[in-house]
Amino acid sequence: MSISENLKKIKSALPKHVTLVAVSKTKPVADLMEAYQAGQRIFGENKIQEMVEKHETMPKDIEWHMIGHVQRNKVKYMAPFVSLIHGVDNLKLLKEINKEAKKNNRIIDCLLQIKIATEDSKFGLTNTEALEIIQSEVFSELKNIRITGVMGMATFTENSEQVTQEFKALKASFEQLLKVPAFNLNPQIISMGMSGDYDLAITCGSTMIRVGSSIFGSRNYS
Ligand SMILES: *Cc1c(COP(=O)(O)O)cnc(C)c1O
Repeated sequence: MSISENLKKIKSALPKHVTLVAVSKTKPVADLMEAYQAGQRIFGENKIQEMVEKHETMPKDIEWHMIGHVQRNKVKYMAPFVSLIHGVDNLKLLKEINKEAKKNNRIIDCLLQIKIATEDSKFGLTNTEALEIIQSEVFSELKNIRITGVMGMATFTENSEQVTQEFKALKASFEQLLKVPAFNLNPQIISMGMSGDYDLAITCGSTMIRVGSSIFGSRNYS
């Protein structure tokens, strides 16, 4: 099926409260434009440089989401335009995003990445670390960022019972955040679910799914 057909099929089955991020990393602008022409306006990339280049050449009504691990020294390149940074997993990074957002006269929305998978390779905070960040003095002074929710990646496994437990853990982290009063904390988003597991993620409370290969086909990293 074509990109636009894939998109249509996925979107027609999504509940209204679930937002679709089209994960376009490694894909050429022509593929993204096909999705754009089919009505898609939110794209997710995992490398800042690649996202900056695509942002420069593509229509300006696109919302760009950074879904990858963020290096502090590259925040400045995306600060003028990024809509949502999914992978925030430390306070130093949050301070840097705040600094660059301020320079651009913006408030940048961020999600706290929570580690829900058992695999070592996946980044993220524990629940306790996330709470420590949002209750810290430093956090209370960050006027140019806003935490709008949480993001997580489940373990890559066929064991749907395990994946369900992990998604439920992320939902529980989100509910913890709701109890903390802070002017720059407004939790609304639970970003979980990818091509292989988004149906399950939605059942477990996802409000934002990040889907790549089911829209654009498999990726070639060579
Ligand atoms: C690549 C990626 C996705 C999309 O993965 P697919 O399996 O292709 O849907 C989602 N989230 C993150 C963080 C990713 O890096």
